[in-house]
Amino acid sequence: MSEKQTVTIAIDGPSGVGKSTISRKVAARFGFTYLDTGAMYRAVAWYIKKHRIDLDDSSAIETALEHIDIDLLPAKHETEDVGVLLNDEDVSELIRSPEMSMLASSVSAIPAVRDKLTRVQQELGRRGNIVAEGRDTGTVVFPGAEYKFYLDAQPQERSGRRARQLRARGETVDEKKLLEMTIARDKQDSERDIAPLRKADDAVVIDTTALDISQVLTVITDKISL
Ligand code: C5P
Repeated sequence: MSEKQTVTIAIDGPSGVGKSTISRKVAARFGFTYLDTGAMYRAVAWYIKKHRIDLDDSSAIETALEHIDIDLLPAKHETEDVGVLLNDEDVSELIRSPEMSMLASSVSAIPAVRDKLTRVQQELGRRGNIVAEGRDTGTVVFPGAEYKFYLDAQPQERSGRRARQLRARGETVDEKKLLEMTIARDKQDSERDIAPLRKADDAVVIDTTALDISQVLTVITDKISL
C-alpha cells in the first residue's frame, strides 16, 4: 500500500525566526513528533569539524556519511532544544554555538549530505505524524505535506531573539556580529543551488516580527483540522 497514512506539518523559514519554539509547541498540541532537521545538519557539521574533513573533499564526505548515525531525543523541557546523539555521543550542547550554525550552513550545501539527511527525514515522516522544521521541509523533503507554514521576521528582530536565547544559556553575545552572521547565513542558505531556503508555493506565510509566540501558535493551530 503506498497510500499516505501519516500527517505532516512543515514549518520553514530563516534562522532565529522562532521555528523551533513554535514547532515544538505545535507538535505538543497535536501529539505529533517534532523533527528538528537543522539539528541533523548541525550534527553532520560537528562530525566534519571533529574529524577535520575538508568540505571540498567529496570522497571523504561520502565516507564520513557512511559512519554517521544520528539520533534525535525529545527535549527534556519544552523550552529546550532536542537532544542529539551522534554515534552515541551526546552533542546536544556542542552543536548550538554560532560557529556551528555557520558550519552547518556550509555543510548543508553539499549534495551528498542533503541526499542522506533528506532520505532519513522522509523515512521518519513515513513512520508517524510529524511537525518537520527546517529550510526545505515544505519544498523538497515533504512537498506533499498536508500543512505548510513559512515563518519570517526582520533580520534585526531574529538576531535579537537569538541573542536572548544565547544569553539565557549564560553565553556572552556580540549583537553586531550575531546580526552579521544571521544575514550571512540566510544569504548562504537562500542562494545555494540545492534545496535553498524558499517558501513553498502553497505555504501559509506568517510574519512574526510583531507577534509573540502564542499569537503565532494561534494562527497555525487555527489552520489545522485533524
Ligand atoms: O535550523 P538551524 O539553525 O538549526 O539549521 C542550521 C543550518 O542547517 C541552517 O542554517 C541551514 O543551512 C541548514 N538546514 C538546511 N535544511 C534544513 C534545516 C537546516 O539546510 N531543512
